[in-house]
Amino acid sequence: MVGITGTNGKSTTTALVHHILKSAGIPTTMGGNIGLPILSQDPLPEGGVYVLELSSYQIDLTQSLDCEVSVLLNVTPDHLDRYDGIDDYAASKARLFAMQSPEHVAVIAAEDDHTGAIAGQIGGKLVLVSSADVKDQSRWPSLQGPHNAQNVAAAVAVARSLGVSDEVTAKALVTYPGLPHRMERIGERNGVLFVNDSKATNPTSAAPALAAYPPAPRKRLHWILGGLPKSDGLDACEPFLDHVKAAYTIGEAGPMFARLLSEKLPVRECEMLVAAVGEAAEAAHPGEVVLLSPACASFDQFKDYEARGDAFRAAVEALR
Ligand code: ADP
Repeated sequence: MVGITGTNGKSTTTALVHHILKSAGIPTTMGGNIGLPILSQDPLPEGGVYVLELSSYQIDLTQSLDCEVSVLLNVTPDHLDRYDGIDDYAASKARLFAMQSPEHVAVIAAEDDHTGAIAGQIGGKLVLVSSADVKDQSRWPSLQGPHNAQNVAAAVAVARSLGVSDEVTAKALVTYPGLPHRMERIGERNGVLFVNDSKATNPTSAAPALAAYPPAPRKRLHWILGGLPKSDGLDACEPFLDHVKAAYTIGEAGPMFARLLSEKLPVRECEMLVAAVGEAAEAAHPGEVVLLSPACASFDQFKDYEARGDAFRAAVEALR
């Protein structure tokens, strides 16, 4: 059993570990927060590996879960409506390790204060990983951006601790197909690339999407953002605002984001996603990118982030 938690990157790392194990010929299935209830799946044969994506909500509900490998990616402010502050939220993540037997393995990307503190409490086997361990991402089409370096570093450590050879893992990183709604390339139209990152439901997860499109030699990013805000700013995105050529706001957070951004870049208040896609498509020149990376929850206008991503795809496909 491999259990994977963290504020961002859980699904990607879960799907990546699952893909590496499959590539190694190990029977495996994934489940949990990734939308596939694990207990309703067929049991694996002896030696099989269950890869579980675990949200803090699921860890809170779990009485005992002694994963052979437990993984923590990062802890940044999110879901604070449910917890008494970030320390309480981090404590929920830490329980995944408290439930583990000492002979089992903890893989932690200790790149923020909270993960660092949790790593300091591990009594058993600890493998510390970091995005800096990953030197060259150029051969992995679906694992671009600094955030994916962290996911890869963690997945590689899990694979190693399960005895998968580095050679098999290296090939699997190349063939990993990616997940829908996470930096998903929808297609090109008139030389403009449309990218669906609807899963970026907070500023921390939108930031790496912006980071993936640097402004040199020229700015080319048309950023669609907004929805149900989780905070009253865009702090984590600030360092990358100079990557953005123009922003298109939607949803409840639209007016707030427009106020924040209009001091720094051109902003159009579109309110609706379809309008934002239309305006961005019209403004974008060949070679530029229209990115939906909302930095917000979707529930003000959509059933969930998947419905929002599907609506984006439909709007792109409907463009004439
Ligand atoms: P989760 O399942 O934890 O929500 P996903 O793998 O679905 O995470 O990714 C959600 C969003 O978070 C993606 O759109 C991506 O931009 C961003 N992201 C992915 N991995 C990381 C990471 N390690 N650190 C920060 N942001 C990340």
